[in-house]
Amino acid sequence: MCRTRYWLLPCLLLVLLTACTPASDDPSWAETKVPTTEQTATLAQPATATPAPIPTTQPSPTPEPTSAPPPEIVASYPLAGDSAMVAARPIVLVFDQAMDKAAISEALSLWPDTTVEQRWPSPERLELWPAEPWQAETEYKLALDESATSAGGAALSEPYELTFRSGGRGVPVPVLMYHHFADLPPDATQGQLDWTVSPQALAEQLAYLQLHGWHAIAPSDLALYLAEGTPLPQGSLVITIDDGYKEVLDVAPLFVESGLMPVLFIVTDYVEYNAYLNWDELASLASQGFIIGSHSIDHRDPREADDAELQRQLVDSRALLEQQLGVQVDAFCYPYGGVNKRVKEAVAASGYRTGFSLNPTIHQAPDDPLFLGRSRVDYGMSLDDFAALLPR
Ligand SMILES: [Zn+2]
Repeated sequence: MCRTRYWLLPCLLLVLLTACTPASDDPSWAETKVPTTEQTATLAQPATATPAPIPTTQPSPTPEPTSAPPPEIVASYPLAGDSAMVAARPIVLVFDQAMDKAAISEALSLWPDTTVEQRWPSPERLELWPAEPWQAETEYKLALDESATSAGGAALSEPYELTFRSGGRGVPVPVLMYHHFADLPPDATQGQLDWTVSPQALAEQLAYLQLHGWHAIAPSDLALYLAEGTPLPQGSLVITIDDGYKEVLDVAPLFVESGLMPVLFIVTDYVEYNAYLNWDELASLASQGFIIGSHSIDHRDPREADDAELQRQLVDSRALLEQQLGVQVDAFCYPYGGVNKRVKEAVAASGYRTGFSLNPTIHQAPDDPLFLGRSRVDYGMSLDDFAALLPR
């Protein structure tokens, strides 16, 4: 009975006002804080003040559902499944709206237990800076449960989870490689089968990517993710089309309608040949969102060009594309996949940020943006074969 604290005025008041009901014998009472006079006054109220209102038969209205749309995480660093997280970089989550920082802090878990500092450079962007670098080969899991709410009070529509590690095989951003788009005759050669995709198959592939939430990003977005940890949407990929054949015009609407915009790697000397896209067509495609990259001046193997010639192939092709099309060109595709250390250095010195090879990997090395792997899509490929080119 308030044995230890009976001498306290607030407790005494309580004793008087509540006649030391059994509730006050609850041992937990002794553990709790001594009520302040203010709280005591509140507690005292029922004994003296007006009776509590009689509940009406009307059911109490259910809480008004908030009209604010549920928040979403639109980009992150790292991406889920990234096995080459750069050791000292923060995790970054970008939301589509301002968030409730306290609620996020409560909703957040990280395994194994790791000390991180939460920073909010803006109300939509959360950064988690590790006190120690991420440990190589440790698998980390970040989770946000549905108690994460926006500043407007709307909860995440589903729990969010991100698994990543450091020191592994790479960043799961696949690059798809196309060349020709056409229907082939039954007696097509192996070479044709290897480098052609039918418009129908392309339509199915783009529909598959849309259905499974893939986003086509620009090479410059991938370069920023690799170099600086700039967040990307989950399911980011790059779609590339080499050589600039006129057949691109036949399938251009499929790309535009799906919003999965590819990079066109153009050989500048080919532009005015009949089988290839001309400048007007390229300008029109660029204005529709097609990204333009360089595939050299005349498609020679860069390894076989001397330094001066290599410089010309890289710098002049880029300058011509930029001047003719009014776009910025920062992606280079090695003709014949011809790349070595000297070629890469020349590509970097010529102002390119990314280099696309024929190395058939779907995981990119964060420290080697000038040697990005690509997966060839070919004619005989089923949709299952196609799906196997994607890291999921
Ligand atoms: Zn080519």
